[in-house]
Amino acid sequence: MDKDALTVHEMVETYGVRIATIVDRDGWVKTKAREIDLDEELHLAKDLDRIMRHMKELYKFVGVSSNNIYWSLTQVPIRQILIPTTERKYISVINPEILKLEGQENNYVEACGSVPNKVYIVRRKPYVLISGYTIEKERIELEYGSKDFYAGEDPIYSSYSNPEWVIQHEMDHLDGITIQDKGAALI
Ligand SMILES: [Zn+2]
Repeated sequence: MDKDALTVHEMVETYGVRIATIVDRDGWVKTKAREIDLDEELHLAKDLDRIMRHMKELYKFVGVSSNNIYWSLTQVPIRQILIPTTERKYISVINPEILKLEGQENNYVEACGSVPNKVYIVRRKPYVLISGYTIEKERIELEYGSKDFYAGEDPIYSSYSNPEWVIQHEMDHLDGITIQDKGAALI
């Protein structure tokens, strides 16, 4: 079958796609994702982009990491995150790297599709700059938050207005780290 002809629903069926959680498929969630070969493997990134967008809509995720989505096509998660831009659109970033992480830590209130029915407070920096590649192999840099943003001990609930935590949350996933590993449980 021509893979390009598959609808996203057929891809989900074909690749056995489902949410990877620490309850089910913890080996997927906790595995360090591998780099994507930008010359040979962009087709993987493009397929995963479609699947992650589908799952984001289905489960109302604010961001998605490859480690959240089990699929049988790659043996381990590949380094790709689907994150909001400051214009509230979504973009897949391939082989992302944190270039800057600055400011005084705040208390972000976070949930996670891979850690069901739990909410954690995670201390994170208020400013992050990342680099990576689009699925068209274009190098990009994206920055979020402000290094001067400090809320003291107050919990921060907002998502779209404070996307810096989302970026750090998804970057952690690529290293096999969840909010269960670095946060304090609220529920
Ligand atoms: Zn998560």
